[in-house]
Amino acid sequence: MSSIIEHTKPVPSAAVLEPFGGGGRALMLGHVHPDADVLGTLLGLGLALEGRGWSVTYGGPHPAPALLAFLPGIDRYRRLTTLDGPVDVVVLTDCPNPQRTEGLIDQARRAGKVIVNIDHHPDNRRYGDVNWIDASAAATGEMVYELLTALGAPLTPAIATNLFTAIHTDTGSFRYSNVTTRTFTIAAALVAAGARPEVVSESLYERRPADALRWLGAALARVEVSEDGRLGWLALPAGLVPERVVESEELVNYPRSVASVRVACLLRERDGQVKVSLRGKGDVDVQKIAAQFGGGGHVNAAGCTVAGPLTDAMRAVLDAARRAIDESRAS
Ligand code: 5GP
Ligand code: MN
Repeated sequence: MSSIIEHTKPVPSAAVLEPFGGGGRALMLGHVHPDADVLGTLLGLGLALEGRGWSVTYGGPHPAPALLAFLPGIDRYRRLTTLDGPVDVVVLTDCPNPQRTEGLIDQARRAGKVIVNIDHHPDNRRYGDVNWIDASAAATGEMVYELLTALGAPLTPAIATNLFTAIHTDTGSFRYSNVTTRTFTIAAALVAAGARPEVVSESLYERRPADALRWLGAALARVEVSEDGRLGWLALPAGLVPERVVESEELVNYPRSVASVRVACLLRERDGQVKVSLRGKGDVDVQKIAAQFGGGGHVNAAGCTVAGPLTDAMRAVLDAARRAIDESRAS
């Protein structure tokens, strides 16, 4: 492609649609630790392209989490260390930063392929040849729905289930402030096309192994709230709770659920590093807190990874969160 395309509206432009005209070979490329918005959109779009005669491969630096084994087509998603064979189009969804592909995007770029970047993160780095960034979308799942509609691609139950799950998880089951009338309109169309809300909810939230609640209890016993009530956090030392439990529980939602809390923080120690999840409730921009540590995200949901040990990471991140809360009160 000769020039970089940028588009920021909810409905895709002709330039965004162009790489998907005709047919060819597509790689649907995920980022590190892919979640349901990443995987649901890569699979939803990829399956639709296959329906139009494309040859599609799916993969990224990390495997899909076991929790998402119910997504139709997820068995096609492979862990990649190198890109094998030529492709015409590389699509990244929900990936704000090319560094999050662990070098795979550089291989794609060196091979001279068209890179399409579809995302709803406001801090997206515009690293593609085509960049469609709609920060008003609650999930990238909404954008891929609009893309398939514009392409005239039929929504199969498999595609609808992938996109519905993407939207369901990024909106906290349609509960967060990112939800709009458009979210519900799209969700309704996906249910009409065969997505089953009860199956998605049951698959995400009601398949706990028998020991999970005991581990959950051990984790929740560590929730702390600041004296003024505005900062809530949960710090988990490595090995305290099995990784599989932490990955399937969205633990940051528990300190967030305390009424007075304005910023919630989960700090998970792992391999000498600390993965930080931040959540806000509209009055503090948690993306700005994450950005101080090289991370990013959205106003109300952001994250970063900082060096251990856990006590040092806690001090640094919680201090930054306290400052952000104080500034929001002053303004
Ligand atoms: P979570 O806390 O669920 O891992 O992530 C919440 C949000 O923050 C997501 O939108 C995710 O993209 C973003 N996020 C999480 N971790 C990182 C990170 O290390 N770097 C960046 N740039 N964004 C992150
Ligand atoms: Mn997303």
